[in-house]
Amino acid sequence: MERTFIAVKPDGVQRSITHKIIAKFEEKGYKLTGIKLVNASLELLTEHYIEHKDKPFFPKIVSFMTSGPILAMCWEGKDVVKQGRKILGATNPLNADLGTIRGDYGIDMGRNVCHGSDSVESAERELKIWFSPEEIVSYKKDEEAWLYE
Ligand code: UDP
Repeated sequence: MERTFIAVKPDGVQRSITHKIIAKFEEKGYKLTGIKLVNASLELLTEHYIEHKDKPFFPKIVSFMTSGPILAMCWEGKDVVKQGRKILGATNPLNADLGTIRGDYGIDMGRNVCHGSDSVESAERELKIWFSPEEIVSYKKDEEAWLYE
């Protein structure tokens, strides 16, 4: 089954809306297989945002992401990477549709509440950065029979 890395950024934790993000994924039918609160290091975030290392916004995003705890999660289910991005909405909250997390809870790009992997490959790479293998739990949910045909 496909997996993705979803994180509630420091703004989402400080604004006490972590449950909103969790609820969206739970309600859709996805399975939570990893979750922890992390004070991320500069090294971890540099690895996470390596593709943006030379972009002008890199110092800003890293400084923001180290400003408070991040809720790191692994969610599992069919097409969860693409659907997860849809649940979160466009990167710029002002362009994000209402009904998405960023559309409902964000205004500025640098305070866009959440992160979601943009491909299956990124998801696997990011999950390795944020979680050790034993922190991702494998289990069966009875509701799966009612979610998948
Ligand atoms: N970001 C920013 N300014 C920009 C572009 C990106 O502050 O001009 C931040 C924004 O919070 C975004 C993150 O950097 O979520 C990573 O950017 P990316 O393009 O990977 O967007 P995402 O995959 O998070 O939607």
